[in-house]
Formats: sequence, C-alpha cells, structure tokens
Amino acid sequence: MSLLNLIFPPNCVVCSSSENWLCNKCLIGIPNLDVQWCFLCNKPAGDNCELHLSCSNEHNLKIHAKAFSCYTYTAAVRKIIRNAKFVPKIHKNLSILTRHVCQQNLVKHFLSQYDVILPIPISVNRYCERGFNQAEIIGSEISKNINVSMNTKVLARAKDTPPQHKLSRTERYNNLKSCYKVNTRLISKYKSQKVLLVDDVCTSGATFYYALKILQEYGIVNIGCFSLAKRL
Ligand SMILES: [Zn+2]
Ligand SMILES: [Zn+2]
Repeated sequence: MSLLNLIFPPNCVVCSSSENWLCNKCLIGIPNLDVQWCFLCNKPAGDNCELHLSCSNEHNLKIHAKAFSCYTYTAAVRKIIRNAKFVPKIHKNLSILTRHVCQQNLVKHFLSQYDVILPIPISVNRYCERGFNQAEIIGSEISKNINVSMNTKVLARAKDTPPQHKLSRTERYNNLKSCYKVNTRLISKYKSQKVLLVDDVCTSGATFYYALKILQEYGIVNIGCFSLAKRL
C-alpha cells in the first residue's frame, strides 16, 4: 500500500465504498451526455460539436470552434469534481474519471483531432490555496492516454476574479472579461496547430469564450473546448 493510501485510505467519493477513490460501479453508472451544446446560446450544438456559426459571428469569433463535454453535472459528477478539500483525493478522482472517458470512442475521436492541450488557468491565489489546477490534472491524463502534448505555460490569468458559482450567466461573462493573457513567445509555436482547451466544468461557457477570444487575437483558428461536465 502506498504512503498516500495509508494517510488517506481510499473511499469512493460517490458511494463511500472502500474499493477506490472512485469505484468502478459508480464510474460506469454515470450516464454520458447524449447531446453536445453550443455554450454561446446554451442550445444543442451543430454537427461535429461545432459552435453555431451565427452565435460565433454574433460574439465576434472568426474561428473554427467546437465544444465537447462528457457528462451532465449530476450529483455524482458534482461530488467527483468538487471534492477539492482533500488534495490527493481530487487528483485521484479526476484522474480516474478522465482515464475512463479517454477509453470512450466519441471522446477519443474528439480529443485526437488536436495537436496541443492548453489547460484553462486558475489564478495564482487559487493555485496556492488548492495546490494544483484541476484543468491541468485532467489535461495531463488526456495527454497520457490520447498522446497529445500539453503546455501549461501558454495561457495564464491576467487578474484574479471572484468565484463564479453564485453569479448569473451575464455576470459570469462580465466577471471574466479580459481575465486571460498569453505568453507571446510560446504561442507563436502553435499558430498553425489545432488547440484543445481543457477544463473541469463548462457552465455558462464564459471561461472558454474568453480563452477563445484571446487565442483568436494571436492567430489561432482551430480550437476545441473540452470539459468533463456541462452544467445545463
Ligand atoms: Zn462508488
Ligand atoms: Zn449557439
């Protein structure tokens, strides 16, 4: 038994059984999202998970953008994703869940279109509090399983913003305005590449939207937005 398992004996975060951090029964019991969503209008997306052209135009996105989420934000998925109090635990939960979805054909098909993973950054303050960025945990698991490289240094937070969870859709968009910056030296390398943004949950889509906006400014034209869960 590893030292980690001695200090934090593994219990499934969903059903509390002692099999693992996330037991197999719970893992396979989570229903997949059967429709993909355009987060700009919060309606079902077009063919191949593409954001609607009309929505992109309306929001001044002149790029080819797609969005894919694996699950709806059910109680079980919420527990897995939000169980961030015990640091080692959330790593394990998220890794197990991400590894699992990487075996699913639709997910594999979506992820393998891309050349590089850019995890959505969190603020320095939140990083220090939490000790990790959950999007990086998910990204690194995808990287291992789908064989796409990850770069955590391209996107960064330009400013700290209040937590999003109590805000309305419009407030979420206003809250995140201009919140990202890019490393101009590193980004030039990815200009002609297909870029995959990765996050844990997509709610209003504000996070992905502002990341798309800034990547567009630097000439990236083909971007996928991947999240484990979509909050409908
Ligand atoms: Zn369980
Ligand atoms: Zn739309």
